[in-house]
Amino acid sequence: MGYRREFEIAFVGLKPGIHEYDYVITDKFFEAYQQQDFRNCNATVKLSLDKKTGFMLLKFEIGGTLETNCDRCGNNLKIDLWDEFNIVVKMVEEPELMNDQEEDPDVYFISRTESHIDVADWIYEFVNLSIPMQKICGFNDASGPQCNPAALNMLKKLEPEEKEEEKKDNPIWKGLEKFKDLGN
Ligand SMILES: [Zn+2]
Repeated sequence: MGYRREFEIAFVGLKPGIHEYDYVITDKFFEAYQQQDFRNCNATVKLSLDKKTGFMLLKFEIGGTLETNCDRCGNNLKIDLWDEFNIVVKMVEEPELMNDQEEDPDVYFISRTESHIDVADWIYEFVNLSIPMQKICGFNDASGPQCNPAALNMLKKLEPEEKEEEKKDNPIWKGLEKFKDLGN
């Protein structure tokens, strides 16, 4: 697939120092992976590769937008991507062994004889990691979730009767429960 070649960086020929690569990632990129729960992806990836002796520092800056659905009401939701990820790539004698033993996910080993690195899988991972865990309408506004009231009403009606007991609990606390892991 010629399309993927743009994600292979021939680092051997690069001079020491910083080199920059810009990618625009659309839905087409994800066809090589499993089905994603977003669409109309228009992500930008700015990769800066700092070539040192025996290792490289890779910084991925993720921007742009994509569309997914609100976790709460199912409405179409446009998400701004904004995140940054760093990877250290070290050239070693036994990369497989080292990769098995390394616990730091930000450190990756390749063979000293390697001439290219493929950054497609990192881009895949980092675009996905840039999507917030909680995808809720207007959640980033101080005014709180702005979900589609018709959809919420519909969902309420679809709730099974056995939940009657739970409804006696204060609904405010039930709502907050969903967000308590957000700070982590
Ligand atoms: Zn919503």
